[in-house]
Amino acid sequence: MLKIFFRVMLLSTLFCVLTASGAELSCYHCKTKISGRYLKDVKQHSYCSRKCFNTTLPNCSVCKKHITGKYKEALGKLFCSDQCFITILPKCSICQLGSVKILKQENKNYCPTCIKRPKCFACGHPFGQGVQKNDGRFFCNTCRPLTIFDNSKAQKLYVNAQKSLLGLIGKKANTVPPLKFVNLVEMKKQHPVSNAAGMSLRGFYSLVNKKTDIMEGNKLLETKVEKVSETIFVVDGLKKEDFMITAVHELTHDWLEEFYPGIKVAPLWVEEGCCQYLAYMYCMKNNYKKQALRIQKSPDKIYGDGFRFYLKKFGNNSWPKVEKWLRQQGYHVKPAPGAVRR
Ligand SMILES: [Zn+2]
Ligand SMILES: [Zn+2]
Ligand SMILES: [Zn+2]
Ligand SMILES: [Zn+2]
Ligand SMILES: [Zn+2]
Repeated sequence: MLKIFFRVMLLSTLFCVLTASGAELSCYHCKTKISGRYLKDVKQHSYCSRKCFNTTLPNCSVCKKHITGKYKEALGKLFCSDQCFITILPKCSICQLGSVKILKQENKNYCPTCIKRPKCFACGHPFGQGVQKNDGRFFCNTCRPLTIFDNSKAQKLYVNAQKSLLGLIGKKANTVPPLKFVNLVEMKKQHPVSNAAGMSLRGFYSLVNKKTDIMEGNKLLETKVEKVSETIFVVDGLKKEDFMITAVHELTHDWLEEFYPGIKVAPLWVEEGCCQYLAYMYCMKNNYKKQALRIQKSPDKIYGDGFRFYLKKFGNNSWPKVEKWLRQQGYHVKPAPGAVRR
């Protein structure tokens, strides 16, 4: 947070009106001989007129007027009034007013009032101007033209995301789940618990398994687990880059399910951290610096801490090392039927 120190003091210059008498006096400023009334400052200098006296007063650093009464001092400069002072303060990007207390979100400044405004769904910044959708979501004017609501466009991007993931991993999944491109209401219906961790719900991977117990009399011979359906859900209203990052993350879940099924019973941060690691690699490759930083700085215990584990252990761009580690952990082995996440 930007801090500005300022204080208010009363100007200590004193002036008095006296009548010249006896001794010869000349104006300290214009050197004219003084006769009659004159002014004197605290240093005992005499002035023939208010105009000359005023030259001794400091100027407001903004409006340049002489300061005659109360003033503010900040950053080594003087200001005659609040109006002048406020002009040097950083401005809130919503209300455009200068504020002593400014809060930063990414590269933007917000005053303490505006930072509390509802957030734009697409950029996560406090909402200034734009639209509110029927489902309650706000979209700022900057994001609005960039957001994706068209299913066919989403499906095309989804294919691109698959290619991008292949580029990062080098190994193709045998089956790729279909994309269900849904609105927020549908998203919440499909996955009602996801907002619990304070994560904004953008997408998820859904796997439905069928478990069959094969019995002989009362004896359990075998439990068969079959994949019934896989679906990747991505919410509408994201910007292209966020759609792609979300899709890469969710496709990684699918990929892991195929090649490292044991990760499904590892602590959740192991799997989510891995998906975030690939999302991060995707950001770096495409120069999405803001989004990469968002992944890196996420305060979430599962997504943020999970990702940072991978980043610290393997560095920026080391997928082969990650895979080696996944194998060492035994995640390539299918978990026992009925096994649950630790
Ligand atoms: Zn003078
Ligand atoms: Zn001023
Ligand atoms: Zn503001
Ligand atoms: Zn926005
Ligand atoms: Zn995930």
